[in-house]
Amino acid sequence: MARVLVVMMPAEGHINPTLGIIKELIENGDEVVYCCTEKYRTKIEALGAQFKAYSFNEATLLNNPDMKPFEIKHPYQFLYMVLKKIIQRFIPDVLNLIENETYDYLVFDSLIGWGGQILGEKLGIPAVCSTTTFVFVEPLGLGNQLKDDDEEVKELYNGIMEMSKQLASQFNVAVPSLAELSGHPGQLKIVYTSRYFQPMGDKLDDSFVFTGPSITPRKDAPSFANESLHAVYKQAVYISMGTILNKDLDFYKLCFTAFRDLPVQFILSSGKDTDLEPIADLIPDNFIIRPYLPQLEVLQGVDAFLTHAGMNSTSEALYYNVPLVLLPLTSDQPRVAGRVQELGAGVIVDKNNLTPDVLRNAVLEVLGNASYKEHAEVIGKTLRDAGGYKQAAMAIKNFMGKQSLSATPISSFE
Ligand code: UDP
Repeated sequence: MARVLVVMMPAEGHINPTLGIIKELIENGDEVVYCCTEKYRTKIEALGAQFKAYSFNEATLLNNPDMKPFEIKHPYQFLYMVLKKIIQRFIPDVLNLIENETYDYLVFDSLIGWGGQILGEKLGIPAVCSTTTFVFVEPLGLGNQLKDDDEEVKELYNGIMEMSKQLASQFNVAVPSLAELSGHPGQLKIVYTSRYFQPMGDKLDDSFVFTGPSITPRKDAPSFANESLHAVYKQAVYISMGTILNKDLDFYKLCFTAFRDLPVQFILSSGKDTDLEPIADLIPDNFIIRPYLPQLEVLQGVDAFLTHAGMNSTSEALYYNVPLVLLPLTSDQPRVAGRVQELGAGVIVDKNNLTPDVLRNAVLEVLGNASYKEHAEVIGKTLRDAGGYKQAAMAIKNFMGKQSLSATPISSFE
């Protein structure tokens, strides 16, 4: 039995994949202490884990433009954001929360990056990374719209160097190299996709364990009767922009215009905090709209999914063989969308060239051409075969088994 510290960023897309794993670890006899913001307490305690909340004002997080997803024009922007907005803010909070406590290993959110290594080092325990997006196979493998010799990039580089030195001294750890900052820390990396779907997956070593999406029943999700999706029309399309970027009323209006005349049932998740009142009169008859849907169930009743290409939504759809129309908006979404299109399971629409015609044609193309569905099935099989949360928990258990063997003093074998 081990005592496990889990440190996650407060985002549904980061927390959901850990739920099945935590439950499995607890069932295997481990004691889990899970750190996140207060909002997630009930969800986590329901698993039987202990919960510790960051002393962190949720409103500051939501209203802080720096914490919102943005378009990455150069990898340094992302690194700087992680250092300044995440590591500098979260790590001291977490260290305070667990002061004088001991743990056997750590599971940390990939978004904390080098911060996970700091925590592991401070606690003197092995660290497992919960990787909620594709792995960067090439160093700093993000979009690169800015040139390295641009003034802005030079400034960012200097900022990163300064910040990492300052943090290393604050936490009393070695100053990291740029490669360490941009690489994937953790001795074991759980990645919620398949090696096939991961771009250049065959180039990654065995410390990356690909488990596919971590799909578990979501007891807190509302119910929805999938039969209503086919009550009037033969085909149904699900639309969701995820849980963060879901307040763009203009986009919803565009969908209404694009799809109102199609003989297709649309079902839209509009977001728990989105006020649709200003466009309520425009909602077409062939739309069902809910603030939040049981996405895993809905996906099993639709023929296509118009998504922002969030890693979770995309993987969940492919897991259920659903082809995609991808409208990537920010962060890793262009990369995820690119991979889906590359493997033939969907088409990308450009957010900068979005018209009702573009949107309608993309949806009709995916609904009308069976090859998207066939390719979704190919990826879906690799995702299902990867084993999900059970495989992830097993990989952690095996890894910890090896760790304790290697930590056993030689003399005990004599
Ligand atoms: N989700 C859901 N119901 C909804 C909208 C979203 O269950 O109505 C879940 C979805 O299944 C996924 C997560 O919220 O697991 C969204 O994660 P993703 O990475 O796709 O997007 P993000 O919200 O992080 O932008």
